[in-house]
Parts: sequence; structure tokens; C-alpha cells
Amino acid sequence: MRKDSGFDTKLIHGGQRPDALRSVTPPIYQTSTFAFRNAQDGADCFAGESDGFIYTRLGNPTTRVLEDLVALLEGGFGGIAVASGMAAVTTVYMSYLGAGSHIVSTEAVYGASRSVLEKHFSRFGVEASFVDTSNLEAVKAALRPNTKLLYIETPANPTISITDIAACAEIAHQRGILLVVDNTFCSPYLQKPLELGADIVLHSITKFINGHADVVGGVIVAKTDADHCRMYNVMTSMGPSMDPHQAFLVIRGLKTLSLRLERAQANAQKIADFLEKHPRVAWVRYPGLASHPQFELAQRQQSGPGAMISFGLKGGLKAGKVMMDSVQLAVLAVSLGGVETLIQHPASMTHAKVSADAKLKAGITDDLVRLSVGIENVDDLIADLDQALSRC
Ligand SMILES: *Cc1c(COP(=O)(O)O)cnc(C)c1O
Repeated sequence: MRKDSGFDTKLIHGGQRPDALRSVTPPIYQTSTFAFRNAQDGADCFAGESDGFIYTRLGNPTTRVLEDLVALLEGGFGGIAVASGMAAVTTVYMSYLGAGSHIVSTEAVYGASRSVLEKHFSRFGVEASFVDTSNLEAVKAALRPNTKLLYIETPANPTISITDIAACAEIAHQRGILLVVDNTFCSPYLQKPLELGADIVLHSITKFINGHADVVGGVIVAKTDADHCRMYNVMTSMGPSMDPHQAFLVIRGLKTLSLRLERAQANAQKIADFLEKHPRVAWVRYPGLASHPQFELAQRQQSGPGAMISFGLKGGLKAGKVMMDSVQLAVLAVSLGGVETLIQHPASMTHAKVSADAKLKAGITDDLVRLSVGIENVDDLIADLDQALSRC
């Protein structure tokens, strides 16, 4: 494969390693350990003078295919595949935060990315501030002398608010700190944070990258060799390594990323247009609608609006519950980014225990319904939403 190949070609051929038996699909090296040829070979592997594999916690050939592939797609130095999206998030935190340090993060960041800081990293003396990172003045005001990371999620969950990656990179670099972007909602097909100036990008692989709701996983890609090595070291010491069978499934899922997202996104645009005109719907938040407050930023920063929609029901909390009980095709479940359409109501489900004040600050209103649009026939999806809305 040529280096300047298109994204779709990289998806199919990227990361592949020559295999002795010339298997077209990467084999699953379901082994915990690797034999050395002799004492010298073992010594060379440990000294880092040979790229041979040693032990699966430290690296595995199947997992390496996935790591190299995602790094290629994101345009980074190297990839680090881990057992879950949260393992990716915490590996980044562990690599750069310590007693007395501070992180600035997105107010509406993924719930666990916030709670692990507030509940656990706080025990080790790490401080965290959560601000509306779509407001650059708020970002600047939150930085402290001991801030080590600026961490953003864009689009953020479930408000679909968008943060300017290039502007945040500039703010972070002026202060000599790193910008980390959670790119789960877009995938590298729609957004390339490293090209926009970010230093580290991470994903919950569970979502669009794998795309089939059958694997939990995560990946981190660093722009530089130094950051890659630092995080790889932390990861292999702590041990949230990805299993080779998990990696095989993700490699298979990833091959159709652009096909899946093209269809899901086309469906999402039609559904967003339908919802915006519906009399029972109060508002729709989708980056492909001119009514999105950051429509222009989305157009500049993303190569497409994606497949995630949030909308509000005029009937509020009660209507939200009715809607959840009325859909027949959309599946009532958390998570996102799979081939099937998923629907959820944060106020009565994922965010039911969050205080009213915190919900308000994060923009999660009682009427908010979140849709992860899949690749089904769009007329069937619209008919399902329409019949459910008629009961709300
Ligand atoms: C799901 C998700 C995570 C956490 O990933 P897991 O694979 O569930 O551990 C982190 N960030 C975002 C944006 C997510 O959607």
C-alpha cells in the first residue's frame, strides 16, 4: 500500500503484517507468551533491540495490527490498544497527572471520564476543573500554573456541543501543556484531531470503530514517539492490555467504518430534518442542521455531521419515558456507534442520579432524548419514531 493511499484503502490494507502462511486476514495469536529462539534473542527482545514479541500484556501481533491501523488512520506516531475506552482514558490520566497536578476537561465529558477523576484520582492529589470548552474564554480562565492536560470531548455527550480543536491546541501549547481529544463520536473518518494540533487522541473502540456492539475496547494514539513510549510504558505496567481475540474482532469491524458511517450519517441527516419539523419535538441538536449553534465550526472541523442526534420532547420527562416504551425498531440501550439504531433518555436512565444542578450545567435537560442512528432503512426508522412520537 502506498503511503498517500486514501482513507478507505488504509482501512482495508493498513496495519497488516507479513504472515508466514500468507493469510489474508490477520491471524489471532491467542497466546500469553512467545518463545525466544535462544538466550541472545531473549536478551535482544528485552533490550528493545529486536521487535520480537515477549508476553501478551506487553504486546501481541494481532493487537499490533489494530494499533498500527488506528495510528495510520489518525495520522499519529503509534497506537495503544486497551481493554476498554475507560482504560484508554485512565492510561492517559495516569501518564501525565500526579500529586499536585490539575486537568481542565469538558463539562459534558463522558460520565466515567469525569467521575474517575472526582472519585479516584482526587485520592492521589489530582485536581480537575470541568468547563464548557466550546467557550474558549472559559477554557483560558480555568488553566492554572499546575495544569498538565487540556482534555476535550467533541462533539460532547449527550449535548452534541462542539469544541474548537485547533483553538484549544493553540491555548494548550502557549502554556506548554498537552491537548487530549476524545474522538469517539466522530472516529478518524470524520475528524482528525492530531492534524488540527492535538497531541493525543483516544477512542472508546466499543463505539464507531468496532461498530457492531459486540466488543468493549479502547485505543490511544500519540503524535510523538516520546508520548507514545511514555503511555505504552504506563499501560504495560498497569495491565489493561487488549486481548488478541478482541483485537481481531475490532480489525474486522473497522474495515467497514467509512461504509457504515456514510450510511448512518445519511440516515441521521434525514431523521434530524424529520424531527425538526415534528410538532411534538421542541428542539433538535445535530451538527448537520443549520440550527446547530456551532454549525460552521462543525463544517470546518469535521468532514461530516456524524450519526448522533439529541432532541427535546415538548412533553418533557414524562414524554421521554413514553417515547422509550413506544419505540419498536430503535433499541432502548446505552452505548452508541453500532449498526443498529439505539435510543436512550438520559434524565430517566444514564443521568438519573446526577443532581439537577449538575445536569443543568452540563446541558442535560429532562426532555432530552439521544439517538445513535444505525444503518437500517431510513423510512423504517422514521416510521418507528413517528408512531412513538404520536404517543408522547
Ligand atoms: C463509551 C465512551 C467512553 C468509555 O468507553 P468504554 O469502552 O465504555 O470504556 C469514553 N468516551 C466516550 C465519548 C464514550 O462514548
